[in-house]
Amino acid sequence: MLDLIIRNGTVIDGSGAPEVRADVGVGNGHILVVGDLSGVIAAREIDAAGRCVSPGFIDIHTHSDTSTLVYPRMESKIRQGVTTEIGGLCGISLAPLGHADTPAAARVTWDVAKIGMQRTWLSLAELYARVEQTGLACNYASFVGHGVIRAAVMGYDNRPPTDDEHTAMRNLLQEAMADGALGLSTGLIYPPGIFAETAEITALCGVLRETNGLYTSHIRNEGNGLHEAVDEFVAVCREAGVRGQMSHHKADGKANWGKVQGSLRQLEEARAAGVDVMCDQYPYTAYSTGLAMVLPPWALDGDRDAILLRLDDPAARDRIRADITAGLPGWENMAAESGWENMVVTGAPQMPECAGKSLAAIAAARGSDEVEAVCALLIAQQMEVSIVGHSMDEGDVETVMRWPLTSIGSDGSALAPYGPLGADTPHPRSYGTFPRVLGRYVRERGTLRREEAVHKMTGLPAARLNLSQRGLLRTGYWADIAVWDAETIADTATYTAPHQYPVGITAVIVNGIVVINERGEQAGTLPGRILRHHERSSSVR
Ligand SMILES: [Zn+2]
Repeated sequence: MLDLIIRNGTVIDGSGAPEVRADVGVGNGHILVVGDLSGVIAAREIDAAGRCVSPGFIDIHTHSDTSTLVYPRMESKIRQGVTTEIGGLCGISLAPLGHADTPAAARVTWDVAKIGMQRTWLSLAELYARVEQTGLACNYASFVGHGVIRAAVMGYDNRPPTDDEHTAMRNLLQEAMADGALGLSTGLIYPPGIFAETAEITALCGVLRETNGLYTSHIRNEGNGLHEAVDEFVAVCREAGVRGQMSHHKADGKANWGKVQGSLRQLEEARAAGVDVMCDQYPYTAYSTGLAMVLPPWALDGDRDAILLRLDDPAARDRIRADITAGLPGWENMAAESGWENMVVTGAPQMPECAGKSLAAIAAARGSDEVEAVCALLIAQQMEVSIVGHSMDEGDVETVMRWPLTSIGSDGSALAPYGPLGADTPHPRSYGTFPRVLGRYVRERGTLRREEAVHKMTGLPAARLNLSQRGLLRTGYWADIAVWDAETIADTATYTAPHQYPVGITAVIVNGIVVINERGEQAGTLPGRILRHHERSSSVR
């Protein structure tokens, strides 16, 4: 007798192969049979007639790091059919922090205190142990954020590391890789990643070569300097001899629409020359980030207090204004490229009157210019202001999506409509990414075939991350499974009402355990596992 049989579904196995009608039998957390199970019984059965049965979705790009602690049920993700959540992206991870008194540890302590939690870890092994103690609905694995190891060693200073500091960063990365990290992530628009030169990143990536870790990058420029930034990304991968994943690929700002054709060609050319690069994307035409990212790099030098002091200085504000007006070489001048009227404040609890308004509208209401408004907001909010920028082209989204080596990643977090973040207005991608691809881009627009879309959410990211026995519906693989209705699956989260679960997801199974049942209800089960790099490599060998 099996633990679970999912009967009569249309099986899309995640490899890109055509769908087939089959039953799926599960036992001991694994898929035991994909085929005809008539006459076989199971402790539990799910009737999937008229439904698709696919591997659970692997969200290759998330910021669900603090979420693992505060929302272990991972509602906004599991309800999309996501069964594996990958964190530590864009240079930002919760570990390793070095010693308890490093600037990186202070920042993480502050970040988790905001959501009512206490930091109890320094290393990635300690973080993973903490997450395992509570349990999680989805599987989870993390990259090492370059910004975090840099801050652990040298704070938030705008300068290159000394040789000793570079060695210390390498040591932290090596230790975290030994603890099971997936690789290194950079966020080259965020402090302190923005202060790093190419050579610093390339040298650190040498550590990944030893362990076949993946290098992922939020590249230095996704606007006017997109092609130069892709060149830098490819050069790092080539020089370091590592595999590379370009994060949330896009072209920001109307003047740059269409540039993704060139950037995808750059990736193709690199691959033809033997550099293993791919990318991922979220299926929306708006991004979400921190308001501070409109500031030029020099204005972000130092710790929070140093930045706040600077923003309060009229002379510094004049210089910020001049730089945003004229631009700086190589710098992604987000405000000028997106346009103030397209940048909407979504999170600013101290100034609720600003929520949902564009920076242009906020400035007009204050009777000041946008730079004054931005600085006032950042000061009132201690730098913590989130924005959504509506500045991408739907044609570009589809061009990137059609590239065969693009995976889908939300760039969002596991959230829920309650708790410390339940009143925020996050980007709807945290609730809608995967159903949106299957509803809007497969069913409505025909951008992808269903099997292709599923591959980009399962088999492709699993292979990219070297996740052993995940991402396919195959005998012997872990039973991470999503059951959904191709005719009705859809995202419902919007920019103004983001805390909305999608529709059309019938059941979600993680490691053989039913988490979302046939009635769409979430059980209290937390069957997710930490997916450690070395465990994978040992089982692969
Ligand atoms: Zn990013």
